[in-house]
This record gives sequence, structure tokens and C-alpha cells, in this order.
Amino acid sequence: MKTIKCVGILTSGGDSPGMNAAIRAVTRTAIFKGLRVKGIMRGYKGLIDDEVLDFATGNVSNIIQQGGTILKTARSKEFETKEGRRKAHETMRRHGIDALVVIGGDGSLTGARIFAAEFDIPVVGIPGTIDNDLYGTDTTLGYDTALNTIMWAVDKLRDTASSHERLFFVEVMGRNAGFLALNGAIASGAEAAIIPERETEFDQLAELIENGFRKDKNSSIVLVAESEVTGGAMGLAARVKAEYPQFDSRVTILGHIQRGGSPTAADRILASRMGQAAIEALLDGQRNIMIGIDDEQLVHVPFSQACRNDKAIDRSLLETVKILSI
Ligand code: ATP
Repeated sequence: MKTIKCVGILTSGGDSPGMNAAIRAVTRTAIFKGLRVKGIMRGYKGLIDDEVLDFATGNVSNIIQQGGTILKTARSKEFETKEGRRKAHETMRRHGIDALVVIGGDGSLTGARIFAAEFDIPVVGIPGTIDNDLYGTDTTLGYDTALNTIMWAVDKLRDTASSHERLFFVEVMGRNAGFLALNGAIASGAEAAIIPERETEFDQLAELIENGFRKDKNSSIVLVAESEVTGGAMGLAARVKAEYPQFDSRVTILGHIQRGGSPTAADRILASRMGQAAIEALLDGQRNIMIGIDDEQLVHVPFSQACRNDKAIDRSLLETVKILSI
């Protein structure tokens, strides 16, 4: 096995709070262990286009508290082709990069898995996405911060919802997963969560409405996961309006506000631990794994599992939302 002397880091896919803290941890751990570090700008696109910088500890000073990613991020269709990946490999060769740390979501780690297998390169992934939809890890970088942002936003909406005695549908991100909607609903005391993992939720919402939804309260907030399955907040509001025209409802789509902001302590700590673990795993001869966290312990999850399996949501939490909203 070739000795690793130089490691490249990139961030890919959607940005998430905590990516910078992870970049810092990877860089500093690598330097501490005597490795050289290359920062690759704009994800796989930058790897193809040869946007590679030498990184020293100073490059990652004062970034632990910043949202987004100093390495920038991009999506690259070219990397999905063999020719694109060949160019990316050529860039690595030119700069003497022996191994890669990829920080990103499901798509980015799928790309990493294919690239690693094709060119026999050691690659370790760090799950960076607010959606929390990666199998094999209890949580992903940015998820906690996004949940806090949702909570903050819903707290504000509650003031208007209760002043006007209105029903609000609040759409949150999550791609095809309901983690943000479900736990966001619990954290903000919402009356219901509509998630793609459970298509029958509309019936429950109808049941709530028919039973005199919020009769003795003066506002109602329903968190809706963005998804074709749920129809999003607009779709749901249209259905409710058609069936229950007496309800004066409003829609708020939180959008990209959920992706930004300074990471929470939980995300900074997770990023720091995962970043250190990524370098240690590479030096320990680990290949093609994602660093995950399972019951507070760091774990190594093979890419084949992390990318191919769906992460199950704890449906009993829907019952929690229901019970606590009576
Ligand atoms: P998020 O969950 O925040 O959207 P993500 O990492 O899932 O992040 P994607 O847009 O799905 O984001 O993927 C990011 C990049 O990963 C793509 O632009 C592409 O370059 C690469 N990628 C994704 N899937 C593949 C694949 N099957 N083969 C090669 N590269 C891929």
C-alpha cells in the first residue's frame, strides 16, 4: 500500500454549516501527523479544472464559526463521466495528492465511491448535509444547525399565527427525507409534521381538522417536508383549502435560510471529531469509508452501505408530535 504523504480536501454538493469546522480539523490533524494538505476549490469541478491550493494551518484560522465552505462547493456533471474522473485523477497525480477527504452528501459520497474504485485511491468521506439522510450515521454535519434555524423561524411565525389565529404551513428542506420536518416540529411545538416517509399523514391532518383543529388554541403550525410525495407546503395548503375552505391558511417556505449560519456547538464538535477521525482512518489504512457517529461513538461506514441504503426515520416521533399538540 502506497504511503500517504499528501491529502486533498474538498466540499461538494449543497453547503452545510460545519463544513468549515471539518476543513479545519482535517487540515490541522493532517499537518499534525506530518502530511501535506491541498485544498481543492469547488468540489469535483475544481478537481477536474485544477483549482488546487497549498493549505497550511493559517488557511483554516478563524473559520470554525463560519457557515458555508471556504473551499466553495459546486455540482459537476462532468465528474459523473469517466472522462471527467480521469481528468480529476490527473490533477491529483500532478499535485502529488495521494488520498482524498470528501465532505458532502449522498451524491458526493457516491461520486467518491466510484472514483476510489476506478483509480484505486484512498478516499474517506465526511457526511456534510443538513438533510441528515445518510445511512450509518446518527447525524450529519449541519443538521443540528438547520434544526435550530427552523426552530428560530417557526418561533417567529408563531407570533403572527397566534395574533391572526391562523393555520401556517411551513415548508422545510430535507430532499426526500423527513428528519428536519419531524424533529423541527417537535422542537418548535408544531401541531403536525408531514413527511415523505409516511404518505397517510394527510389523513391525520384531516382528522385533526375535523376534530376541531386547535379549537382551544389560537394558532396552528404544520411543518411540511419538501418532496414530491408530500406535495410541499403549497400543495398541502391547496388540498386543505379545497376541502376545508373555512380555514384561513398561509404558506411559508423557509428555503435556503436553513442552509446558512454559524454552526451550533454540536455541529462544530461533530465536525472536529469527524475531521480528525478522517485523517486517522486514512493513516490507519482505512479505505472508502464514511466517518459516522453512532451513539456518540465515531464509526467507519463503508461507502457501499452509506450510499446505497435508506436511512430509517423513527416514526414513533410522529406520535410524539401528535400527543404533544393536543
Ligand atoms: P446534498 O445532499 O446537500 O444535495 P449531495 O452531495 O448529495 O449534497 P449532489 O448534487 O447529489 O449533492 O452530488 C454532488 C456531486 O457529486 C455531483 O455534482 C457530482 O459531481 C457528484 N456525483 C453525484 N452522483 C454521482 C455519480 N453517480 N457518479 C459520479 N459523481 C457523482
